Amino acid sequence: MQFRTFGRFGYQVSQLGFGAMRLPTKEDGTVDFDRAVSLIRRAVELGINFIDSHHFYHNGDSEVAVGRAIRGLRDRVYLQTKTPMYREVESEDVRWRWLETALEKLGTDYIDCYLAHSLTWERFRKEFDPFMKLAQKAKDQGMIRHIGFSFHDTAEALRKIIDTDAFDCMTVQYNMINRSLEEPIAYAHEKGMGVVIMGPVGGGSLAAPSAEIAKLLPEQAKSSAEIALRFVLANPNISLALSGMSTMRQLEENVAVAEQEVVLSADDYGRIREVLDEKRRLSELYCTGCRYCMPCPNGVDIPANFELMNLHRIYGVTETAKERYARLVARKASAGDCLECGECEPKCPQRIPIMEQLKEVAEVLG
Ligand code: SF4
Ligand code: SF4
Repeated sequence: MQFRTFGRFGYQVSQLGFGAMRLPTKEDGTVDFDRAVSLIRRAVELGINFIDSHHFYHNGDSEVAVGRAIRGLRDRVYLQTKTPMYREVESEDVRWRWLETALEKLGTDYIDCYLAHSLTWERFRKEFDPFMKLAQKAKDQGMIRHIGFSFHDTAEALRKIIDTDAFDCMTVQYNMINRSLEEPIAYAHEKGMGVVIMGPVGGGSLAAPSAEIAKLLPEQAKSSAEIALRFVLANPNISLALSGMSTMRQLEENVAVAEQEVVLSADDYGRIREVLDEKRRLSELYCTGCRYCMPCPNGVDIPANFELMNLHRIYGVTETAKERYARLVARKASAGDCLECGECEPKCPQRIPIMEQLKEVAEVLG
């Protein structure tokens, strides 16, 4: 395992972290504790020393499984968990109880990184003061070591949150086909924050075989998922990438990548970045995702449909694009739900013939 320094804090974290959100489950969907505990313990044995959980992953059982797995190993791992900022609470006492319960479930008296989960700029403005008061009190009492956040919003919003200098670390999305936060990631690293990446394989999107992605690293990788992980780890501004692993095989494959001193040569990294830049330009020619065409009176999520078409057409990730399209169909937001009222087209700065393109999306992905 290769290790990296966690921001300005000086300690060494494994460049691959264990995300405890996709633990092995039984037929009824509940956590299979025996398999989950063995998997996490094996991860630690293989050198992983950063484990990420959440108060409510697996209906609250993720923290329980992590707690059982690290019994006797607490001093060998850094623990991260999160409180959901999208849940309204009647008072901050509720969040405090969640934190106390997390410590109990994890079987520890301190959490290394405690995160405000799923911040957006709106949530940050509303919840920053109460969250920070709670987190600071917990820090003063030794219940947590670092205060951080996870994030789902724009690069501009992320930079503003980093600029508050209130946080020690952050957990953000970044992968080969979504590099929108690349600049604030570099900025956070420069400011000495711990930078944790979630979704290095696009939440599984990039795990499906793709000839387009295989072409990026011919004969050097076993799968698209491996190329995606290598790409993220090659970024020098990140502290570690989390992978939500469910099987020993996934764990061993990911560890085999994270053990390599050089995950991508400088030449390969530069070349892949150029190809991805070109692909991004191509996809933006088609639809920039600006959402000026929205809302559609019939509920069609126009940019989401075009994003999936790009996933298929430009990145060759067709299986995933079709799966995700089926979810749009279920939400009645798919290209097939367009009634051709024509309201959206004049609003599109790219002058995209939206109705015609949506027909193509429905034909190809439907
Ligand atoms: S043309 Fe189709 S996608 Fe555009 S606004 Fe009308 S129903 Fe919605
Ligand atoms: S307005 Fe045009 S470019 Fe913007 S999201 Fe809609 S279709 Fe895409």
